[in-house]
Amino acid sequence: QDSKSHTEKFITRFARIYTPIVCGIALALVLIPPLFFGGDWHEWIYRGLSALVVSCPCAIVISVPLSFFGGLGTCSREGILVKGADHLETLARCDVGVFDKTGTITSGKFEFVRCECVHCHCIDKHNHRELLRIIAACERLSTHPIAKSICLAFGQFADDCVVTDAKNYAGMGVSAVVDGVRYYAGNEKLMQKIGVPFTETQLVGTAVYCCTDTEFLGDIVFADIIKTDSREAIDRLHHMGMKQAIMLTGDRESIAADIAAKAGLDGYYAKLLPEEKVQRVQALQQQGHTVLYAGDGINDAPVLSRADVGIAMGALGSDAAIEAADVVLMDDDPKKIVKAIKISRKCMRIVYENIYFALGIKAICLVLGALGIANMWMAIFADVGVMVIAVLNAIRALFVKNL
Ligand code: ADP
Ligand code: MG
Repeated sequence: QDSKSHTEKFITRFARIYTPIVCGIALALVLIPPLFFGGDWHEWIYRGLSALVVSCPCAIVISVPLSFFGGLGTCSREGILVKGADHLETLARCDVGVFDKTGTITSGKFEFVRCECVHCHCIDKHNHRELLRIIAACERLSTHPIAKSICLAFGQFADDCVVTDAKNYAGMGVSAVVDGVRYYAGNEKLMQKIGVPFTETQLVGTAVYCCTDTEFLGDIVFADIIKTDSREAIDRLHHMGMKQAIMLTGDRESIAADIAAKAGLDGYYAKLLPEEKVQRVQALQQQGHTVLYAGDGINDAPVLSRADVGIAMGALGSDAAIEAADVVLMDDDPKKIVKAIKISRKCMRIVYENIYFALGIKAICLVLGALGIANMWMAIFADVGVMVIAVLNAIRALFVKNL
């Protein structure tokens, strides 16, 4: 009930005015001509009753929610969970798409590139096993895609570590006490926050730097690849009239630029903290745009709930994201965003077709009935007939072509 679409709410408000007005018209038709113009009572009671039958709003009241049910059903068949008709309606209006990088545009499965151990304290100098061990231990409790990839690759080195007091720095990294020493693992921002001098890596990729409270230890560099469908999804969004497609990321500038170019995005903002992502989306909304935001919800659940429509990646995403989002994609295919918009637009088209068609036919029959041209049969067509046609039309929301 809470997530009824605006159109449904409008219909409810509309009924509040509509019902007394049409009842008034019918009563006026029955009373005024016989009383003041010497009309035949039988004839005008008949016309008044026809007017009541014509104006019965079933066609709209039934077909509008039904169209939304159809749209929601089509979405769920495609693996898109939409949490209410109002989101379907807003989705059809979205003109700016904002995307998180990791896990949304890119796969979120990081491939190890290289490890650079600066002040090498490693026991095993050859492959910096000690550094990898510390970072893997710090990342053990994090759910970030980087953390998952690190644990997958090097988790076994850290099996014997005792990890306590783990902390998460949203948009920056993590920290934990490993075997009694506090370590930090994250991006440049985290190193700057801790205040240890560090050297930025020259390698292309997402870097995870590691330090203690006083000393920089080194970094490992990972590369994330763009999802195979991202480019096509963005192109199709542009083609459908989406004005801008923008990427927000907490990652480095160079990677953001590279991924944005590969995905065909209109722009990107890098090195953002979660709250800065919210500000970017708010700025777009203040410019009058209806903003769609797609993310995995790790560090971006606030944006998901702030955007006009928040779309969460359901497979890779966090529970917080699935909770905060309006739309959940059951697998993380970005093309599903295109599908959802297509379905929502078709659904809204059907809703408006039904409203205009029903009100149009009713207005015509009302006038014809009052003039005595239309009889009760026509009135019944304007009521039940129009309703059946509107319902059949609403069922089209179940069939969306070329998804
Ligand atoms: P995005 O989803 O755009 O990559 P996030 O806000 O999730 O943005 O993360 C921003 C950056 O913070 C990441 O690119 C990474 O450098 C760093 N980061 C976040 N979480 C971790 C973590 N668990 N381990 C290491 N680095 C992290
Ligand atoms: Mg993210």
